[in-house]
Amino acid sequence: MDMQTSSLLDRLFSAGLLIDTGVDGLYGRSGAFEDVITRFERLIDRFGGDDNPEAIRFPPGMNRAHFEGSGYMKSFPQLAGTIHSFCGCELDHVNLLQCMTDGEDWTTEQKATDIVLTPAACYPLYPTIAKRGALPAGGGLFDLQSYCFRHEPSKDPARMQLFRMREYVRMGKPADVMAFREDWMQRGTKLMEQVGLPVEIDVANDPFFGRAGKMYKNNQRSQNLKFELLIPINSVASPTACMSFNYHQDHFGKTWDLKTEDDETAHTACVGFGLERIALALFHHHGLDSGEWPETVRQALWG
Ligand code: AMP
Ligand code: ZN
Repeated sequence: MDMQTSSLLDRLFSAGLLIDTGVDGLYGRSGAFEDVITRFERLIDRFGGDDNPEAIRFPPGMNRAHFEGSGYMKSFPQLAGTIHSFCGCELDHVNLLQCMTDGEDWTTEQKATDIVLTPAACYPLYPTIAKRGALPAGGGLFDLQSYCFRHEPSKDPARMQLFRMREYVRMGKPADVMAFREDWMQRGTKLMEQVGLPVEIDVANDPFFGRAGKMYKNNQRSQNLKFELLIPINSVASPTACMSFNYHQDHFGKTWDLKTEDDETAHTACVGFGLERIALALFHHHGLDSGEWPETVRQALWG
């Protein structure tokens, strides 16, 4: 962590935009911070709403069986968060309280529940849509937003453990799905221009775990499966990914037996907006008081 990064977090705390909870990457948000996110989401609606996506909101926890089926633990075990609960008898309870009193680890007897924390807004969607049967003619388009969890504690305010992702997800034939992703790379750039944010788009990879992960990272890059829209959030660090454009080919189609109307395995792509990162980019570029932002930016968001 560099000084600049730590001071950005301190400045956000002092301005009251983020609220310290004592855990790195877990913050409260002020009304002003939330207002920026709400307004930015309305701007997203203006860019994506005319396509008539089906809006679905899942809670920030998902069915553990769906999570297991998705293969997330193969690729990103280091980021996953599970929900465990106390399931014991009265004696177990007495022991648990004793553990707490003695300052010992009281969590070892906690048992996994049927819920895990959602790692990306689109994960609960694929099995849900596959359960409906084959996609209708033309495929599917969905609008999602969820808090997501990733276990990556950091003092960098752009790297949170709980943050929101707004997504559009397209399912259908490969050409339609790829055209959707292309289109959103252009829309994303225009959208950020409207709020005065400088962007660059670059090929990217997900943080696949371990030695085998290196191969997945290389594959993902060489096949151009992931692009990111990057915006400077910090004066010294390199620009930060604020949107991602992901083509999953038939990965989720095969995993969940998701079919097109003519019984082909569906392809999928998703476009994700990192809402907190975008808010941070806006505060970095236009100042910590959103009331003082340039008129054009205020017009685009509050107009
Ligand atoms: P990804 O699925 O990793 O491409 O994430 C989608 C978007 O979520 C990214 O482009 C970021 O804007 C945002 N994001 C990912 N990880 C974090 C994090 N730890 N904290 C805040 N935003 C994040
Ligand atoms: Zn996604």
